[in-house]
Amino acid sequence: MRTLRSKVLIIEDDPGICRFLRVALISNGYDAIETDSGAKALEVISSHCPDLILLDLGLPDMDGNAIIESVRSWTRTPIIVISARSMEEDKARALDLGADDYLTKPFGTIELLARIRTALRHTRTTAGDDGLALSGVYRVSDLTIDYARHRVVRGEQEIRLTPNEFRIVALLGKHAGRVVTYKSMLRELWGPMASSDNKILRVHMASIRRKIEPNPDEPIYIFTETGVGYRMADGRQADGDPQNKGGAS
Ligand code: CA
Repeated sequence: MRTLRSKVLIIEDDPGICRFLRVALISNGYDAIETDSGAKALEVISSHCPDLILLDLGLPDMDGNAIIESVRSWTRTPIIVISARSMEEDKARALDLGADDYLTKPFGTIELLARIRTALRHTRTTAGDDGLALSGVYRVSDLTIDYARHRVVRGEQEIRLTPNEFRIVALLGKHAGRVVTYKSMLRELWGPMASSDNKILRVHMASIRRKIEPNPDEPIYIFTETGVGYRMADGRQADGDPQNKGGAS
C-alpha cells in the first residue's frame, strides 16, 4: 500500500475527543500519536518530529498558546488548534503566535480532514525551508528531486513522501556525494532542540527507502555510512530551471 502516512500528534486531555481524533486519523491513512499534557507534548515533538500537530488550548499543565510559542521558536511544523474557545480574540491570538489554522469544537471528521490536508499541502509547497531553500532540481540516475515543487520522481512516477521524508531527501540531495552526519541532519532538520537520538532518522529512512529504492535492502540512491550518517549518490545539480521559479499563490 502506498499511502502517505503523515504522522499527526494529538495534544488533547479529553479522552473522548482524543479517541475521536485518533479514529478519524487512522481510518484515513494517517499515523497518530497522542499526549495529554503540554510538557509531554514538547518532549514528543522533539523526539518524534510529527508532520502536523493538533493542539487543544485548554491543557491541564499549560496553556496551548505557550506550546505554539515554544514550537515556533524552532520548527515550522504545521499546528492546527482545536478548541472550545470560540472568541475572535482567542483565534487571533493563536494565529498570531504561529498556529496555521483554528478549528472550533465541535467539528466533524470531514472538516478536520480537509483542514489537515490543507495544512500539509501548505508545508509541502512553501518555499524557503531555511537551509533547504533550493531552486532547481537534483538528478541522480532516474531519481529527480524537484526542490521548488517539493516533489520526488523516479522514472515517470511521483514518489509520495511525507513532509519530513521530503526534507530528509532534500537535505541529502543538497549535500549529494558527501556524508551528512546524523547529528548535523537532526540539527538542520529539526533545530537545536531536536532529540539527539538517531532512531527518528532510521525510522524515516526505512520508509524513504521503501518508497524510492528498487530494493530497499541494497540501496542505490541513499547509502548508510554506519555509525556516521547518510550519503546520497552523486548526481547532477541543475540549477535555474526557469520552470521552477514560479508557483507562488
Ligand atoms: Ca482540554
